Amino acid sequence: MSGATPVGFRDRAREALADPTLREALLSIRRGWPHARARAIARLPEFDALRDHGRAIKDHVLAHLDLYLERFERAVTASGGSVHWARDAAEARRLVLEICKRAGARTVTKSKSMIAEEIDLNAWLEAHGIVPVETDLGEYIIQLAGQRPSHLVGPAVHMTREEITELFARHHGTPPSERAEELVAEARRVLRQRYLEADVGITGANFLIAESGSVITVTNEGNAELTHGLPRTQIVVASIEKIVPTMEEAFTLLRLLARSATGQEFSTYTTVVTGPRRAEDLDGPEAFHVVLLDNGRSGMIGGTLRSMLRCIRCGACLNHCPVYLAVGGHAYGSVYVGPMGAVLSPVLYGIETARALPEASSFCGRCEEVCPVRIPLPALLRYWREEAWRRQLAPPAARWGMRLWRHLALRPGLYRIASGVVARVLGLLAGRRGALRRLPLAGGWTGSRDLPAPEGATFTSLYRKGVR
Ligand code: SF4
Repeated sequence: MSGATPVGFRDRAREALADPTLREALLSIRRGWPHARARAIARLPEFDALRDHGRAIKDHVLAHLDLYLERFERAVTASGGSVHWARDAAEARRLVLEICKRAGARTVTKSKSMIAEEIDLNAWLEAHGIVPVETDLGEYIIQLAGQRPSHLVGPAVHMTREEITELFARHHGTPPSERAEELVAEARRVLRQRYLEADVGITGANFLIAESGSVITVTNEGNAELTHGLPRTQIVVASIEKIVPTMEEAFTLLRLLARSATGQEFSTYTTVVTGPRRAEDLDGPEAFHVVLLDNGRSGMIGGTLRSMLRCIRCGACLNHCPVYLAVGGHAYGSVYVGPMGAVLSPVLYGIETARALPEASSFCGRCEEVCPVRIPLPALLRYWREEAWRRQLAPPAARWGMRLWRHLALRPGLYRIASGVVARVLGLLAGRRGALRRLPLAGGWTGSRDLPAPEGATFTSLYRKGVR
């Protein structure tokens, strides 16, 4: 998976916290999308009812997923296309490569797809002599930079304009241009030629419509339209939970998606594609393939993580998460980042590898508050923490510490005595300064600031005296 791994999260997070350029970029998310979302929602009084409806649609689909997937396959086949089933990333990569080879592809254009990231498609195609060209501006930028996306909606949101200017000048051999409009025009010039050269177009899917076999993509740049409209062969890579019964349900979810993601009422381009080109069509591909990826998702349906499959990849939970907004996406070392990534990554990489991600949460609950399909993200993060505990993945010191705490917490009298002793000792250690620079066995509390010492009293004793 993109050569990335969540191992090393702590070190990468520390580096990210010390990076002033990244801090500036993350600040622009904090100042932008959450406010745009709030304004868009204020203009739509039925937004909460729409969220309930969205949740109900996704729950219904998940309860009948086999039925809708089969219906989708029949509809795609009836329209002249083909559906291919992939159990895991390796199978999906193999299927895409086979289609590309049959099409004699040397260059493929791609529009933004998290599933393509999940199966590490670009590296695989390159290793087999096929050049993948990203056509979403953000994806194009990070492809040139040799990086992974750092955000679901804005893949290059961590980069400054100066960095992009330098990158374009280096790769395009053009004089550096400072203005955003000039950079966009430059990317457009380069990409236009690539669209014309491509043998295959690969897109993701925001929704798959079971009744008609249609694929819906949304973009703000129109690049998905050119990706599936110009090459002779189109491949859609999508995960199984993207299915919805009808167009009507898809449009309910689209109303939630754009508002939650960027505060737009609707994305600039919403495109519906059904099968290959028909005799009366002016354009469109001659061959149309959909690769449907499971990759652990069917295993989530019957368990605690089922609600995570409602996710419509809006990114709102990232934009409101204090951890994501402090360390950015690359610290996670995963394709999926922020709160939703901290829940999904252990499914993809295993909790042994991704254990640090569910730990990286303040449990403030903002992610659940803003999630358009009401995914209980904190509860799912807690599930993974409990799972890690059950498998004894925490370091021995942490496990002993928690056992000791549990022992005391179950004995209120003993807890009061022990906490009273600790409060007194901390008060003595702090002395007249009233604060501790270092805390034995709990250095994280004093790593970046002094800890004010308790003044001889515990929370319980103050509470009993009625001090508020
Ligand atoms: S978990 Fe919810 S808020 Fe986060 S990306 Fe998915 S749908 Fe959006």
